[in-house]
Amino acid sequence: MAKRDYYEVLGVAKTATDDELKKAYRKLSKKYHPDINKEPDAEDKFKEITEAFEVLSDSQKRAAYDQYGHASTDPNFGAGGFGDFGGGGFGGFEDIFESFFGGGGRTSNPNAPRQGSDLQYTLDLTFNEAIFGLEKNIRYNREDDCTTCGGSGAKPGTQPETCSKCSGSGRINVERQTPLGRMMSQQTCDECHGTGKTIKDKCTTCNGAGRMVKSHSVKVNVPAGVEDGQQMRLSGQGEAGFNGGPYGDLYVVFRVEDSPIFERDGSEIFYEQTISFAQAALGDEIEVPTVHGRVKLKIPAGTQTGTSFRLKGKGAPKLRGSGNGDQRVTVLVETPTDLNEAQKKALREFLVASGDKAVIEQEEGFFDKMKDAFSSSGKKKRK
Ligand SMILES: [Zn+2]
Ligand SMILES: [Zn+2]
Repeated sequence: MAKRDYYEVLGVAKTATDDELKKAYRKLSKKYHPDINKEPDAEDKFKEITEAFEVLSDSQKRAAYDQYGHASTDPNFGAGGFGDFGGGGFGGFEDIFESFFGGGGRTSNPNAPRQGSDLQYTLDLTFNEAIFGLEKNIRYNREDDCTTCGGSGAKPGTQPETCSKCSGSGRINVERQTPLGRMMSQQTCDECHGTGKTIKDKCTTCNGAGRMVKSHSVKVNVPAGVEDGQQMRLSGQGEAGFNGGPYGDLYVVFRVEDSPIFERDGSEIFYEQTISFAQAALGDEIEVPTVHGRVKLKIPAGTQTGTSFRLKGKGAPKLRGSGNGDQRVTVLVETPTDLNEAQKKALREFLVASGDKAVIEQEEGFFDKMKDAFSSSGKKKRK
């Protein structure tokens, strides 16, 4: 198979700038990276792209290629003046790979310590638990080192061995014969799948994985004043790390239950208290509930509906800073319904006393009727 033109491979013009080359290479190598693209020819395409970029991004090699074509990349060309493309030739791309794949992928050391995954746990709290805080034991499953083999994956008494095929590096050099000479490239060791180790006698508990899911419990100190949706990080309570790396973290997310009577916004608590209009008009001292117990509240005479009173320090603790917020009590004046006769009479008297003309006339009419009923003439008066 004849080699394709490097410019064609990258889809750029012969006059392409370094920037254009880099852009084209990034785009294509992302598309065909074997970790991403599972098509059978993706790896070959990826190597072709990488090789093209390797040459064209080096001004010396590019000049030689422009002049001599593919022959310029032959290891034997010009007394090896262009370096050995094979061994370590790909090393120069590590920085580019790392910018794509976060240091992972094919260039990372399989035996390097890696931190375990973070986990999330939703902790349900009652309205009061969130306000006052508490200590709670939580239990959850997490991936941990296998108890039987201690994480090695090998049967107790045996040890994993260094992979003989890759000498523990997890990667092997592959030589390919092309019409223009041999090409070397690296790929994940197929013997150890990149771990650099082989296990002859697998641990039967974890089947050689070295890991198992374990139930784990931890004590959470819920601080007083937490709010719904807030989270807390418990360092090292996530999943076990790899190759001796640290445990991940646990994020505890608080889910706070609503209160049937209170509303809360941060450290402020809101409460609505219904009072009669007599209490509103005459004033009164009432008791209202707070999360800290019942508290006396003075209603001044002439209080209007919707008036809000502040009970200092009767709210929730301030998470940052000290002390409590306040409770705000909004007073709602209730209009009475289903009045009995005595109440109606008292209210009519109230209106008379207030100088309400219509009621006074009505009351007079009532007495007139009474008089009429008892008068001997029976003559009716009309009002
Ligand atoms: Zn095991
Ligand atoms: Zn290997």
